[in-house]
Amino acid sequence: MRPWPGVLQAFADRLPVSDRTPPLSLREGNTPLVPSVSVARDLPDAELYFKWEGANPTGSFKDRGMVVAVAKALEAGAQAVVCASTGNTAASAAAYAARAGLRCLVVLPEGAVAEGKLAQARVHGALVASVACSFDAALRLVREASERLSLALVNSLNPYRLEGQKTAAFEIVDQLGGPPDVVVLPVGNAGNITAYWRGFCEALPAHRRPQMWGVQAEGAAPLVLGRPVERPQTVASAIRIGRPASWEGAIRAVSESGGRIFAVSDDEILHAQARLAQEEGLFVEPASAASVAGLLRLAREGVRVRGTVVAVLTGHGLKDPSSADRTPFPIRVDPTVEALAALLQITPAEGG
Ligand SMILES: *Cc1c(COP(=O)(O)O)cnc(C)c1O
Repeated sequence: MRPWPGVLQAFADRLPVSDRTPPLSLREGNTPLVPSVSVARDLPDAELYFKWEGANPTGSFKDRGMVVAVAKALEAGAQAVVCASTGNTAASAAAYAARAGLRCLVVLPEGAVAEGKLAQARVHGALVASVACSFDAALRLVREASERLSLALVNSLNPYRLEGQKTAAFEIVDQLGGPPDVVVLPVGNAGNITAYWRGFCEALPAHRRPQMWGVQAEGAAPLVLGRPVERPQTVASAIRIGRPASWEGAIRAVSESGGRIFAVSDDEILHAQARLAQEEGLFVEPASAASVAGLLRLAREGVRVRGTVVAVLTGHGLKDPSSADRTPFPIRVDPTVEALAALLQITPAEGG
C-alpha cells in the first residue's frame, strides 16, 4: 500500500491546484470512519458511523482546508497569513504556516478559546493577538487587516478552505463504498456544511446525495432563528458564532438536500460528549458532540432516523481539557493492592 500523501496530492484532480502549487502536506485527511457500538442502539433503524476528524494532524478538520489555503498563499508569493479564530483555525494555520515557512498572525476573542488550541497556536510560533471582542468582530478586523496589510486571509472566507474541506465528503463515499443517507455535523461559521454539500454534489448524481443535517447550540443558533445572535453563548466554543460567514451556503445545503437544521442545549452536548468518551472510546471537544446530541434529541422525540448515517466528529477532546472537569477527579489512595481492590470493590487473591 502506498503511504497516504495528504489532501493536496490525493485529490489533486478535484482541487484548484496545478504543477506550480507547492506540495504542502502534513498527511492530513484519510481519517477513520468508525462504526458506532453504543449510540447506534438509540437509532435502531440506522447504521451509524463517526467520521473521526480529530485524527487530523492538528486534531480538527480545519487541516483539510488549511493545507490548500496555505499552499495557495505560498504559490501567490505571500509572506504571512492571518486569521480570526475560535481556536482550531488558529491551531491549523499556525502549524501549516510553520511547515511552509510563512509568518502567521492569529486574532483570538479574549477568554473564548480553549486551552489546548491556544497552546497549539503558540507552540507553532504564531503571533497571537487577543482582542476584547466577539469572534464575529475579530473576523471583521482581520478582513480589513488582510487587505490593508497584504496578508493572506485563511479564514473560511478564503475559497480554498472550503475546497479542501469538501474532500471529507469524497472520503466518506469511498469508505462506505457508496453514499450515506444522512450526514450530521455541528454548524458554527457554516463553512463545513457548505463544503460537505459541495463535495457530495461533485461526487454524486442528484438522486444519490445524502441529506445534510446541521446542529447548532441553542445559545448560538442564528441559522435556526433566522437572524444573527449578538452575544452567542455555549460551552461549545468552536461553534460560538452569531453571524455565520457561510450563511447562504448552509441554508442551500440543508434545503437542496432535503435536510434539517436545529439546535441542542449545552446539557445535551455535554451528555453526548460523555457518551462518546465513555461508551465509544472517542474523546471529542464539545462542539463535535453537537452532531451526536442532535441525533439523540431526534431519537428521543420519536423521529425515525433511517439508513446509513454519518456523524462528523470535528475535533479532538484534548483541545479542551476543561471539558473533562465534570468527570470524577483522581481518588487519593495508599499505594497498595488492597487500596486499589477496595476502589474496584473486589477481593484481592492471596499472596503476591
Ligand atoms: C470550526 C469547527 C466547527 C464549526 O465548523 P464551521 O465550518 O465553522 O461551521 C465545529 N467543530 C469544530 C471542532 C471546529 O473546529
